[in-house]
Amino acid sequence: MDLGIEGRWALVCAASKGLGKGCAQALVAEGVNVVVTARGDEALQATAAELRALNPAVQVRAVAGDITTEAGRAAALSACPQLDILVNNAGGPPPGDFRDWDRDAWIKAIDANMLTPIELIKASVDAMAARGFGRVVNITSGAVKAPIDILGLSNGARSGLTGFVAGLARQTRLASRNVTINNLLPGPFDTDRLRATMVGAAAKSGQPLDAVMDARRKLNPTQRFGTAQEFGAFCAFLCSAQAGYLTGQNILLDGGAYPGTF
Ligand code: NAP
Repeated sequence: MDLGIEGRWALVCAASKGLGKGCAQALVAEGVNVVVTARGDEALQATAAELRALNPAVQVRAVAGDITTEAGRAAALSACPQLDILVNNAGGPPPGDFRDWDRDAWIKAIDANMLTPIELIKASVDAMAARGFGRVVNITSGAVKAPIDILGLSNGARSGLTGFVAGLARQTRLASRNVTINNLLPGPFDTDRLRATMVGAAAKSGQPLDAVMDARRKLNPTQRFGTAQEFGAFCAFLCSAQAGYLTGQNILLDGGAYPGTF
């Protein structure tokens, strides 16, 4: 299917690796010009080179910086001549026990996983509406729907974003102008972040990493982790011309792990 977005410009945040990179790859394959960001310049430049090789017809701009800072967001936005598609993403907060988190820990999580996407949405959606096309995809987490005890910072901050988006996406001045805002909720995807979590779990339990990863895979109905390519393909569809009637939704990509009927 031709997604009808060739020649559009996308800002894909936190995209040198993992799910963000998967989204950038899928958009570039569809002919979308991209600005990709990450803090580490080396991995970011390597990803930008891969994206250029994937589709030499598109423009790929790499902007190194921390997207959770005002300077990082300003640099990313100024590299994008016209923002048609915004994929919000950033690293997830650390696990732990809420008894150990002080106000600063909460502010950091809320900054990264709630206020940063809201700032970028604020900077882009009215211009999208004026042009009659806009797609915003926020990468959140399956933990928004089925909270994970040790990820309280993520459960809390991302739920704040989810509540905000539910209201904003339904504003007539956006929805009637072909601007959609949706959240993608990943379950377990095979990325560096997931592997780092498994390494931690293996060290804690004294079990080999392979055994820990295998046990985790077996918890999922598909008996595997998702891939960044699968995630990216779904994100690209949400950004497509065809997806204009889908807005304000929370879409769980988790291999069926969430056990509810709805
Ligand atoms: P990942 O493989 O670790 O990749 C994270 C990417 O984000 C890297 O490119 C990283 O590059 C960049 N990044 C992190 N913090 C950043 C910041 N402040 N500013 C700019 N770039 C930043 O992680 P992932 O698995 O793709 O996860 C992406 C998001 O999905 C996270 O919020 C994670 O919590 C959430 N999630 C993932 C899963 C999963 O199973 N993978 C499940 C649920 C939710 P630099 O480090 O160089 O900045």
